[in-house]
Parts: sequence; C-alpha cells; structure tokens
Amino acid sequence: MYDPAHRARTPRPVIATIRISATIRGLIVDAVAAVLPNEGCGVLGVLNGAVTSVYPIPNIDAAPDRYTMDPATLVRALRGAEQSGEPIGAIYHSHPGGPAYPSIADRATDVERDWVHVIVDLGGIVPTLRAFRLTETSVFPVEIAGGHRLGDI
Ligand SMILES: [Zn+2]
Repeated sequence: MYDPAHRARTPRPVIATIRISATIRGLIVDAVAAVLPNEGCGVLGVLNGAVTSVYPIPNIDAAPDRYTMDPATLVRALRGAEQSGEPIGAIYHSHPGGPAYPSIADRATDVERDWVHVIVDLGGIVPTLRAFRLTETSVFPVEIAGGHRLGDI
C-alpha cells in the first residue's frame, strides 16, 4: 500500500547530470578511437556542470583491458585546466569491447571522488557514452545531457 509518510523518509538516489555537447562528444570519441585496440583515457574540464575541454592522456599500459594515465601529462592537464578557469571535473576512458559500465578496477581507481567518470563503449556499431560517480562499493549513474544551457532542458 502506498504510504506517503514512508516515502518521504526513504533516501532518494543521487541524481546528477553532466552536459556534453555533440562537439565535445566527438572529441572524446575521436581520441579513444585513435588508440584502438587499446583503452584510451583522459580528463575533462568542467564548468557549471558542462564539459568544456578534453585532455587526452596517453595510456601507459597500452592495453585493451586497462589503463593508467601518463602521470606527467596528467599533471600538465591539471595545471593547464586550473589556469584556464575550467578545472578538471571528470575523467574518461574507453572500453574497446564494451560494456559502458565501470569494472571493479575502475571503481578502485584512485582519483578525486567527486569527479564524474565517463565511459565510452566502442563495442557496438555506434559509440555509447555513459557517466557515473564511483566509490569502491557503489556505482551511481549520472545522466548525460546535451549542450543546453541551464534551464533549457
Ligand atoms: Zn574501465
């Protein structure tokens, strides 16, 4: 039976959205496609909930099933993004054979916990992007919206 009092007490799932324009999406997909068959990776500048810049980072594992970002390139990207006023707020990597879902290793990745993880699934006919917030034990989906301004959706 529906019980509004109970519903009000029930914690709601985290709802979050990140905006990725078609142009930015294309830059991410091109960057990870360029390093196939290996996983591609990088970080994303985020301003007001929208991805504004793409920083591809070499995957020093050069492997199709894992990635480690080149530390020196990552530090340069972090500094450059900070100086540009569009700090890094998200991380991306590809799954060349899919799926667009975080692996156990992805959940353990040691990055800023409030960064959004974007995963590019290249296993299908059309690349699929999905976004998540991760902890070692939990995966929270993050909605990807288009490049609208706030209030347009
Ligand atoms: Zn992964």
